[in-house]
Amino acid sequence: MPEVKATGRVVIDKDLCKGCELCIGACPKGVLAMSTKINAKGYFYSEAVNPDDCIGCALCAMSCPDVAIEVYK
Ligand code: SF4
Ligand code: SF4
Repeated sequence: MPEVKATGRVVIDKDLCKGCELCIGACPKGVLAMSTKINAKGYFYSEAVNPDDCIGCALCAMSCPDVAIEVYK
C-alpha cells in the first residue's frame, strides 16, 4: 500500500495578525515564522516559510486569537 502523505495549505491574513507568535510554537512541522516586514497595523506578522511541509493539522489556526489563519486540506 502506498503511503498517503497528509498535505495542507495554510493561508495567513497578514493584516489580521498581531504578531503574538502563538501559531509558530503550535506548528509541529516548522512551517511558520515571523516576517521581518510589518503589516498594515505595524506588527511583524507570521508567514509560511516552509509551506510544502504543511500537513493541514490546523493547530496553528486553532491557536490564533485573532483568527488570521485558514487551513485547507
Ligand atoms: S496546519 Fe498544521 S502543519 Fe500546517 S502550518 Fe498549521 S500547524 Fe503547521
Ligand atoms: S497566532 Fe495569529 S496573531 Fe499570533 S502570530 Fe500567529 S497569525 Fe499572528
